[in-house]
Amino acid sequence: MKIVLDFDDTIFNTFLLMQEFRKIFNSLGFTNDEFWGAYRQCKKDINDFDPDIFSDIIEKIRPYDRNQAKDGMQSLTESSSDFIFSDFFCFLSFAKKEELILLSYGLSDFQKNKIEKSGIVPYFSEIIVTARDKADDIEEIHKKHKENIILIEDKAESIDNVKRRVPEVTTMKIIRPQGGHIKKKSELTNYIIQDLFKLEDIINKLRE
Ligand SMILES: [Mg+2]
Repeated sequence: MKIVLDFDDTIFNTFLLMQEFRKIFNSLGFTNDEFWGAYRQCKKDINDFDPDIFSDIIEKIRPYDRNQAKDGMQSLTESSSDFIFSDFFCFLSFAKKEELILLSYGLSDFQKNKIEKSGIVPYFSEIIVTARDKADDIEEIHKKHKENIILIEDKAESIDNVKRRVPEVTTMKIIRPQGGHIKKKSELTNYIIQDLFKLEDIINKLRE
């Protein structure tokens, strides 16, 4: 069996990291609205968050000390391990390394750095940072391993695309408080979960 885990808002508290980034920009004179407006613009422009592109966008509001912001964001990224949800470590007590694949959407070095510094890499047999539709990657994993696959992910659209393409994948939509995709409901997911606790029974059943 393969258990494919998403990163942001699934095992990583992206909301909390962004709150810390916001505080840096608050200290440089930007309001919360200015920060979140630039954040949304960045997501809209590149479908991702990238500190450099975000810095360009917010600079259009007014000039600021870019180096201070860059240093602040960099040092928080270095501490990415502080933002892993604690239930992930409970989850590791019943999920085996050879089963675990991390599948994260991201285009930037920031995303790769965040994953690396989070300290979770040694717990996975494979790390995939993709810029494609996740259904493409899941289809490849399915062809390669010919085993049962579980996908744990917070984004409804990704789950539904996977279910349409590879219906035999068992999907779990995780709803983290304040996650970026909590409002959109998945039409096709097999399970809706609040956290990674108490999954042992379901996973054991799927192993049979
Ligand atoms: Mg996610």
